[in-house]
Amino acid sequence: MDSIIKHLVEITGHRDHDLLNISVISALCELTNAEYARVLDIATVGLQIFIQPQITIKHGKVVALAEHAVASQGGDAIGKYPALEEGIKQHMGLIEGRSEDGKRLIWLPMWVNEKLNTCLEIANPASYSENTMQVMEGILIVYRNFQNLLDYSERDSLTGLLNRKTFDDNFSKILRASSQQTNGVGGEDGDEIQQDRRASEPEKQNWLAVLDIDHFKRVNDQFGHLYGDEVLILIANLLRSSFRPTDRLFRFGGEEFVILLRSTSQEDAQHIFDRFRENVEQYNFPQVGRVTVSVGFARIDAFEPAVAIMGRADQALYFAKSNGRNRTCYYDTLVTSGDLHAEQSNDTAEFF
Ligand code: GH3
Ligand code: MG
Ligand code: MG
Repeated sequence: MDSIIKHLVEITGHRDHDLLNISVISALCELTNAEYARVLDIATVGLQIFIQPQITIKHGKVVALAEHAVASQGGDAIGKYPALEEGIKQHMGLIEGRSEDGKRLIWLPMWVNEKLNTCLEIANPASYSENTMQVMEGILIVYRNFQNLLDYSERDSLTGLLNRKTFDDNFSKILRASSQQTNGVGGEDGDEIQQDRRASEPEKQNWLAVLDIDHFKRVNDQFGHLYGDEVLILIANLLRSSFRPTDRLFRFGGEEFVILLRSTSQEDAQHIFDRFRENVEQYNFPQVGRVTVSVGFARIDAFEPAVAIMGRADQALYFAKSNGRNRTCYYDTLVTSGDLHAEQSNDTAEFF
């Protein structure tokens, strides 16, 4: 009993997804006397499901994340685990199967409504009692509730996008992960071929864009705040459908959004951001009609502070705003053309 309480105290003491995951699989590993336990990310790319190991606990220790990423190179297609595939199809809560090398595996999919993003895996558990099973179920309920709470605190309540606090808290972590990804160390894309190709192309970089709705005040003034809110929700939906799950989308405040675009050439980044701008321009917003956005973006240098990168993207946005709006501007291009001066710095990163 003491041990259960100890685990629950630990699980509920975390405000970070990784730490929460570690304490849950440690608890499961200890309770079932398993060889190891893992957290698997489940990614759906098109109609294909991919499995990407996140964290492993083995002999009471965490196996490094990067070690995993090298081993799995972007995830395994679910076909490699037929029992898991079948269990997921049937929406099961506990699935039993075997690994390729014959280990007995138990999978615990973490269903949230109809969606599955995470699955826990326990390898070679000792035979355990009905009582242990009930304790495990209890731990999983606490885990799921806590994941939901964490998700809730990380997101903006109007649009469901990640909030500014999440950006501030996680930017350096995101940078680390994305620099590993561009160096071919990591990857959660679930697309091995693409991943390999990306890894061998040094021009693939990560990008940060700041996007601000043009003359949004007019929308509120003309149609009222509720219609303004509706525009924000629809733009967030357009963002979600235009970017990949591996990119990160934030509502930064008011009518300003930040996009972290991963592993793309400069040409593609320009194209992707500009295509989004066009999508907004062409969208027919109910009642309001036409809305446009301006975008400024900068290359992410993983060794620079977030405020410097934000400053550049903000300067490019400021240029777009002062030169007609409804434009996408890249900081480096503006510096090369002499429209912006590199030494001009904006550490406050707040123009609008
Ligand atoms: P610009 O093209 O220069 O960006 O002009 P703008 O009118 O978009 O910019 P400004 O910063 O003057 O106004 C932003 C407006 O956004 C002011 C505020 O009323 C509105 N706004 C901020 N947050 C929200 C929100 O959550 N809901 C709604 N409806 N409006 C918001
Ligand atoms: Mg605006
Ligand atoms: Mg603004």
